[in-house]
Amino acid sequence: MLGHPPRILVSNLCELLDTYFGAKQVKEVYRAYLFSAEAHEGQIRKSGEPYIFHPLAAAYILAQMRMDSQTLCAALLHDVIEDTNITKEKLANEFGKSVAELVDGVSKLSSIPFETREQAQAASFQKMLLAMNRDIRVIIVKLADRLHNMRTIGAMKPASRRRIARETLEIYAPIASRLGMNAVRIELQELSFATLYPLRYRVLAQQTQKVYLKRIDKYHNIQNTIKQRLEQCQIRAQVVKREKHYYAVYEKMHEKKGAASVDKRKTFSQVTNSCALRIIVDSIDDCYRVLGVVHTLYKPICERFKDYIAIPKINGYQSLHTTLYSIHGLLIHIQIRTTAMQQIAERGITAQSIPKFDQEIDCPHEATNYITKQRTQEWLHNLLEIQQSANDSLEFLEQVKIDLFPDEVYVFTPQGKILQLPKGATAIDFAYAIHSDVGNKCIATKIDSQYAPLSTPLVSGQTVEVLTAKWARPNPSWLNFAVSARARNYIRHFLKNLQYEEAVLLGKRMLDKELANYSLSIDKLQKEQQTHLIKTFKINDLDELLAEIGLGNRMALIVANQLNPIPDSLIKLHPPTEAHKSKPLVIKGTEGILVNFARCCRPIPGDEIIGFVSVGRGIIIHTAACRHVTEYRQSPEKLLAVEWESSIEGEFLVDIRLDVHDQLGVLAIVAAAIANMESNIIQVSNESSEDISSLLKFCISVRNRVHLASVMRHLRRLETVNRIQRC
Ligand code: MN
Repeated sequence: MLGHPPRILVSNLCELLDTYFGAKQVKEVYRAYLFSAEAHEGQIRKSGEPYIFHPLAAAYILAQMRMDSQTLCAALLHDVIEDTNITKEKLANEFGKSVAELVDGVSKLSSIPFETREQAQAASFQKMLLAMNRDIRVIIVKLADRLHNMRTIGAMKPASRRRIARETLEIYAPIASRLGMNAVRIELQELSFATLYPLRYRVLAQQTQKVYLKRIDKYHNIQNTIKQRLEQCQIRAQVVKREKHYYAVYEKMHEKKGAASVDKRKTFSQVTNSCALRIIVDSIDDCYRVLGVVHTLYKPICERFKDYIAIPKINGYQSLHTTLYSIHGLLIHIQIRTTAMQQIAERGITAQSIPKFDQEIDCPHEATNYITKQRTQEWLHNLLEIQQSANDSLEFLEQVKIDLFPDEVYVFTPQGKILQLPKGATAIDFAYAIHSDVGNKCIATKIDSQYAPLSTPLVSGQTVEVLTAKWARPNPSWLNFAVSARARNYIRHFLKNLQYEEAVLLGKRMLDKELANYSLSIDKLQKEQQTHLIKTFKINDLDELLAEIGLGNRMALIVANQLNPIPDSLIKLHPPTEAHKSKPLVIKGTEGILVNFARCCRPIPGDEIIGFVSVGRGIIIHTAACRHVTEYRQSPEKLLAVEWESSIEGEFLVDIRLDVHDQLGVLAIVAAAIANMESNIIQVSNESSEDISSLLKFCISVRNRVHLASVMRHLRRLETVNRIQRC
């Protein structure tokens, strides 16, 4: 099996093209050949022959499939961007944008390292390759490239051979299968199998051959019996013996399905104890007539009969399959199909012939593009039509959609794991796809190592990293750009639960603060006092009242007043003290979404702060110096005295502004300095630039004022920094 295939010459290619192209297109392909040969001049393949023979062979494979001229040009040029100094722009100038895009697409496919991916992910990987390439021709060129590489793999070192063969078996053969290109799929599988397991391959080949020779008379007998009977019935048909593919035999011997109890593994004699025939006829009608004929000749095994004409496979494959008992004790596997079905079965997406006018018109790129699109669409359309006559079409439709016109994006984690997300998914969806905790705690994201907002839509092939912080909480605004059901559910769930719980806790602290003025506390309220409150405010229980206070719907002061007048006995027992009276609400930083830190002034521990009660949103904390606070003083009933908890922990956001020399790499210098001080950069913006200095604005996280001061001191020492200030 492994040897060197005969070398293809450009004259062979042109001869083949002459059978289905006009002179102009043959000339264009020939020009691509000359261009590629010159670009690869001096490069030698591992086999020792000039490099150009490889793209030439790939183009020949595609010409055998009767692909269009752009695809053929792209095949001839497919390694030019990667292996020579020719750029994509140069290719676009020479051969048009479509050809350049195709070549670029093929080069990008090759640059994805397979080795780092987990093998279990092969299925997602196949999908991603398809998803990343809207123009299916990229994949078809890649398959031709891989097929020729596999045919000539003998020239590679053993380790590379195994790697390439494994990749072919796990990624490219299934893609060929998905596109219905079974002839390519089978050849890729056989070559890979022979490369990966040379000994097993040889033994299997010898044994199969031996069995075949032993039974050749029986095979002929069966074949002739069927032929004669079909003639008697006046059905025009070809009855051909099917080759056994060694990889398929091997697979059957190793096949396992699901639980260990349903082991479908077969022995060698079970697999080979059969005769495989294919009967090709003119019409669908004849298919069923042939079926009737063979079923009267031999007894069929009921559960083995499959009608893939009525219910085609997802890649468009159609046939009748039946298995019969022969008098010789052999099983007879029979496939019955029409000539058209045979075409589709072997060539899949490439089976459609190019429309006639392709030869006559001048073939500008748009036209070819259009033709290709049409061809892809026709293929799909045919599949759909076939499928419509069947009942079980839902799964089929979904599969085609996912693989060829994807509604999904495929992105990588930093560890190289692939995640599948719905189309339009943003970084926040990605975070929740990793784990609900990662989603709930995420603060920022890096897409391909660049900071990006959580709302950034993702594109297939990107690597996404999520930054989390333990103080972080889901934000209601995330619902505006979370697309996946998973993310939306988690965010909603979290907010709903948290809001009520947090509101109760916060309301309790707010009411306690007011009650302290009367030397009371909620935990010590007497039964009648509780009932009084519940009655007055028409609520079900005390928690509900506390939640109302926490949400800012009721003022704690007014609620506390309801317990006035305080019974004399209580005043005598607990006279109000000064300390109690002015005690502010303590802010711990862990209250969650009902305590918000204002974005205008971003208070941090150590700042003097003031709270503003906002209906339905809880408390917003501002610095006492904030410009908005003056305005709020006009509604003093909404202002709340607050102070930081003394042992507060956590990270708080703060904005700083730097006036820097506009020099190369200044951002990197400043960013590194900030990172050195154990502070995280949440956001960066370049505010304005005048002459030689420019203004950088950072949002960073710090623990408190002391931490911020040391970060700023550190930055001020940098030569490139002129001025720094908190804003
Ligand atoms: Mn190549």
